[in-house]
Amino acid sequence: MVAKWKAFLGKIKILRSLKARLFFIILLAGIIPSTGMRYAILQSYEDRSINVRIADVQNQFKILANHLIIYGYLHDTSSEVVNSELDQLSNLYDGRVLIIDKNFKVIKDTYGISEGKTVISEEVIMCFKGTSTTNYDRKNGYIEITTPIVDTVVSAGAGAKPEETEEANLAEGVILSSVSTNTIMTTLDILNRRALIAELIALVFIVAIAFALAKLLTAPFERVTQAINDVKAGFTDEQISVNDYVETEHIVDAFNQLLGRMKVLDDSRQEFVSNVSHELKTPLTSMKVLADSLLMQEEVPAELYKEFMTDIANEIERENKIINDLLSLVKMDKKAADLNVTSVDVNELLELILKRLRPIARRKEIEIIFESIRPVTAEVDEVKLTLALSNLVENAIKYNNPSGWVKVTLDADHQFFSVEVADSGIGIPEEAQEHIYERFYRVDKSHSREIGGTGLGLAITRSVILMHRGSIKVMSEEGKGTVFNVKIPLIHPV
Ligand code: ADP
Repeated sequence: MVAKWKAFLGKIKILRSLKARLFFIILLAGIIPSTGMRYAILQSYEDRSINVRIADVQNQFKILANHLIIYGYLHDTSSEVVNSELDQLSNLYDGRVLIIDKNFKVIKDTYGISEGKTVISEEVIMCFKGTSTTNYDRKNGYIEITTPIVDTVVSAGAGAKPEETEEANLAEGVILSSVSTNTIMTTLDILNRRALIAELIALVFIVAIAFALAKLLTAPFERVTQAINDVKAGFTDEQISVNDYVETEHIVDAFNQLLGRMKVLDDSRQEFVSNVSHELKTPLTSMKVLADSLLMQEEVPAELYKEFMTDIANEIERENKIINDLLSLVKMDKKAADLNVTSVDVNELLELILKRLRPIARRKEIEIIFESIRPVTAEVDEVKLTLALSNLVENAIKYNNPSGWVKVTLDADHQFFSVEVADSGIGIPEEAQEHIYERFYRVDKSHSREIGGTGLGLAITRSVILMHRGSIKVMSEEGKGTVFNVKIPLIHPV
């Protein structure tokens, strides 16, 4: 229900504006109490007027009841005095008076229509028992009052026993009167109209105040938007500050942090571009030097041609490798959603990688050992994970000593599988360990280049592992060897 209501409000565009909401809230906060107060005051005025009228009428009719007894009106309705008093009262209250005798017969009706008829209503019966009743009919604008006609002289008779007194207290007759409340209603109407005018005037002020307040309260948010727009338009690249509210401070802080991150990203992008150009230019420069030196010589011996052309071919291969690595890296920079996740037998995947790399290892007389603690099947992107793990094993071979070893261990618990690639190689200096995942970072540039490194391998590996929501750790000691530990969830978290 709440959600539906929210969705409905969300669809009305103006209600999605904070300013509009504040305006309506302030408006309601102004209108509800004043309207409520108007109703409460008018209601209490009405209640009080009705009560005063009832008390007044009851007093008058008590006196009339006495007169009815004194003049024996219940037995003979010809009394001039009583009749004129009745006319007077019905005129005064703009109402109708009925006198009912013990037999429930109407002996007098000031309207002259019900005389002789019998009236047996609940109110009349109650009144005969001594309780006068009042009944306010708001819709039709009258109050119905019953007053008992009691012979107090008889009831106060000497020597009467208590139960006899009660008997005697029973009414001889009942005055049933309907009194119009028109005058009270007219006053109420006038009051209501005046209050409404006052309220309308107040409403104009409330609208003005609500509008001004809503504008004032939302101004800091507009300042935040303006400041962000300024940054967007490039007028400033400094940190922005709007400290009016804790909330705006939070937004601005978050934005500044984002700005900071964007700056870092931009710097790293620029650095990346300049690194890429440099890396791509190096083989080209070598090729140009080689080609130029061939061209400058008049008669070049065939062996020299062959030697230089081999060097040029090597440089082309290197250029090709860099471009391929760059393309892989660019692919990794895309979102993790691009992962093509399937259920993969990781043991088999590692066997295949090692099978492909064994000939290269053999050339350096390096032994590759594979230890699989348990069979592992995981939800991974087979192609990307192969690339990532190949890079680790390739590095373990590349940066190894002749006749060294590489040990790959696969294990798993109920949540993750881990691949450990350990080698007996040259190791990574401690200060370099935090940089090895950076693009184009190489501990020893010339050595890495010599053995065909591009400096992109670990950057690719790390991206792939992070895309799989995994982690990679390195432990290494210079001259002793390196251990890379990769941990990846068995089930890919969506
Ligand atoms: P490269 O293409 O140069 O191998 P990587 O990104 O794969 O680039 O690795 C970055 C650097 O980290 C390498 O140049 C090398 O200096 C160091 N490195 C990576 N793996 C190892 C290892 N197993 N043993 C020693 N050094 C390593």
